[in-house]
Amino acid sequence: MLGVGFDNITAGEAVEQAMTLISDGRGQYVVTPNPEIVWLSRKNDGLKQSLREASLVLPDGIGVIYGAKTLGRPLRERIPGIEFAEQLFARLAADGKSVFMYGAKPGVADVAAAAMAAKYPGLVIAGTADGYVGDDSIVIERINAAKPDFLMVCLGAPKQEIWMAQNADSLDVGLMAGLGGSLDVFAGTAERAPESWRRLNLEWLYRLVKQPRRIGRMMKLPLFMLAVFVQRLRRQ
Ligand code: UDP
Repeated sequence: MLGVGFDNITAGEAVEQAMTLISDGRGQYVVTPNPEIVWLSRKNDGLKQSLREASLVLPDGIGVIYGAKTLGRPLRERIPGIEFAEQLFARLAADGKSVFMYGAKPGVADVAAAAMAAKYPGLVIAGTADGYVGDDSIVIERINAAKPDFLMVCLGAPKQEIWMAQNADSLDVGLMAGLGGSLDVFAGTAERAPESWRRLNLEWLYRLVKQPRRIGRMMKLPLFMLAVFVQRLRRQ
């Protein structure tokens, strides 16, 4: 889709594949692009390359699902990054494996970690770091000292995708994933749309109502749909 390849799998399969990647222990990474990220990747080579090098590319955002349908290659289901993370926590907890939470404003990752440890007994919290430390080498040192099975990288897109691609070789982690604002939701500093909005595929609208400053970012959605349509016409 506009040069980005997606894995056509279910959320359950994504979690199983993630567990396999964790046991490989080679510091591979997962991305969950939404239409905005796909759109940005056309003009951002660092982002494009980081999406290409990801081991799992999961479709986040209903626009990606519509886009795939428009191209005649429907994807099986939308996999919001935050749901992937929680399903993976349940598996990690069952195996006594660990997570390191990196990103968000100071203090948020600690609250998120405490909430997830309480919700998924057995989940080991390897450590936390806020997303405003500034010096990558300090953060990498802390992560490598903790050697987590799973690293959440929550710096927002496209920063987190580029960060993972650039630092993959220096990190001693099982697997990592770029998960945007997930720590804010786990910590309760941001809310996800209620279930009824999600069922109607209106999670994007809820976020817009709650954070009107996102309008500039969301204006990329019609451009994305138009470009996908042009891609379809070209193929025909
Ligand atoms: N963030 C960060 N460091 C930065 C920029 C952003 O840790 O230098 C965090 C920010 O505090 C927020 C998250 O990244 O917790 C981005 O959230 P958003 O909902 O914008 O994510 P997206 O929509 O990109 O998934």
